[in-house]
Amino acid sequence: MISLGLRARSNIKIFKLFPYLNNATCDERRDMWMSLVLPLFNAAWILLKAEPSEGRKERLHNLWRQTFKRFMFLSKHTPSLLVNKLVALDINGIMEDNCLVACEKWKSRQRNEEFVKDCVESKLLVRKQMNPVRGVPNVFCKIVNWMGKPCPKCKGSLLNPWHLKIAHNIEIDTSEELLSRMQNMVDEEAKESGKNKSKKLPRKDVINLLKPFLEKKMDSLREIYRDLLV
Ligand SMILES: [Zn+2]
Repeated sequence: MISLGLRARSNIKIFKLFPYLNNATCDERRDMWMSLVLPLFNAAWILLKAEPSEGRKERLHNLWRQTFKRFMFLSKHTPSLLVNKLVALDINGIMEDNCLVACEKWKSRQRNEEFVKDCVESKLLVRKQMNPVRGVPNVFCKIVNWMGKPCPKCKGSLLNPWHLKIAHNIEIDTSEELLSRMQNMVDEEAKESGKNKSKKLPRKDVINLLKPFLEKKMDSLREIYRDLLV
């Protein structure tokens, strides 16, 4: 019942934001999901802590991953490991933190005192993490979706890098390799323009740097697809 409500509310937000999300970069889509959908799960995380059934726990984890994929316009075949990497959030840590805050709020209420979040700040597990898709254009999502497409030559197989290598001797980068290549490109560019680690390359520059790289990759994937059709 909870999952139906969360799914419906997330779908309404996607419907309303579709024109914006359609043209947004990966990190804008991710930001929208974190601001509008992730907080919907706050109450469910607390219930999850008391949930004895592993199956139900997994269902809730699958649900947030599904909402994330929909916000990112990623296909349902996107592996959970990649989704976890793109979200880059410690969901179990968030769950523990929400429980701790709720518990401390209740204790403050019993003492008739005002709850001050700073008092529990040092006990919280979740720290700010790096955004792995900062400035990444949405062509990246198209590439990930391409890898989830069925192979036109082999029934029941997907066009992922492992299938292409084993069945067709074609080597392409995995999504994770692409992410790390892009990170290296951004680091190199930042170094060349004299930025130190604390000063990031402006988002606009990151987009301009990564867009031609990803579009070239997408073109070569389209070519591979055309060759497989022959
Ligand atoms: Zn194949």
